Amino acid sequence: MPYSLARHPFPPAVRHLVLDSRIVLATAGDDSFVRVQLVEARPGELAGFIAPGGGDHVRVVVSPDGGEVPLGPTGEPLGESRTETVVDHSVSGGWIDIDVLVHGAAGSHGGLIGPWAARAPLGSPAVVMGPKGSVVLSGAPGDVVLAGDDSALPAIRRYLRMLGPSITGELLLETRFDVASLGIAPPAGLRVSILEPDSAPSAALAAALQALPAPADPLERFVFACGEQSLVAPARAVLGAWGVDVERAVVKGYWKR
Ligand SMILES: Cc1cc2nc3c(=O)[nH]c(=O)nc-3n(C[C@H](O)[C@H](O)[C@H](O)COP(=O)(O)OP(=O)(O)OC[C@H]3O[C@@H](n4cnc5c(N)ncnc54)[C@H](O)[C@@H]3O)c2cc1C
Repeated sequence: MPYSLARHPFPPAVRHLVLDSRIVLATAGDDSFVRVQLVEARPGELAGFIAPGGGDHVRVVVSPDGGEVPLGPTGEPLGESRTETVVDHSVSGGWIDIDVLVHGAAGSHGGLIGPWAARAPLGSPAVVMGPKGSVVLSGAPGDVVLAGDDSALPAIRRYLRMLGPSITGELLLETRFDVASLGIAPPAGLRVSILEPDSAPSAALAAALQALPAPADPLERFVFACGEQSLVAPARAVLGAWGVDVERAVVKGYWKR
């Protein structure tokens, strides 16, 4: 049976959380992946929170020094936000987990959420907005192509969990992390290609996508391809060549170099 992909909008929500814990999941050179758990600043902040889709994400506003997040007249957080995938959450437990790529040693590449995830004091406030909506996959695709760089690893982790152990297809990862040490265990039916990142981010992902054969039935192939912004155009071109409707796929730029 062909799968379906449904997009559901959610009403806006602003939630006040605090940094409760961090775990370094893995390191690769100067980069690391840090799982931070954000908990309710007050009971009930996460009431109504849902994130049923594999790539569901929130906007997180933090102060670089871990201090209070300034609020505008209607309570909206002021300052820069970063978009992060919700890797797990519990409304009854009052927490959400996000996995943040900390790029470069000791903030050498700048950034907001990476250095905050690595070093902000426990108890630091974080204002979380969204998810604005959800993209929910139903049914079982005949095969999948999951392609992403480090920024997309949290979403791919969730898709793998949702798709289950019998899924077949291709997993293309542009990463220097040891995927096993991140706790990502692809099922046996997925062919895993680990691509070395280079000075042109996501170029290796685009080339690997272009090299894959077209599906026998385009309605049976689910494609997730997210990474640096320059991946979007070639990934969409590949969808077109395969006859896969872009509305039945997830193709997105997760960051810009
Ligand atoms: C829908 C969506 C979901 C996302 N989910 C996640 C997630 O779960 N985890 C996550 O870590 N990120 C995720 N991202 C990317 C995220 O929004 C930020 O870009 C990322 O966390 C970096 O933020 P920063 O403040 O540390 O660095 P920034 O201030 O954004 O960037 C600092 C410097 O690092 C470079 N840089 C940023 N990201 C990368 C990268 N991946 N590889 C190499 N260089 C980079 C920038 O070009 C810049 O020079 C997601 C983005 C989107 C749109």
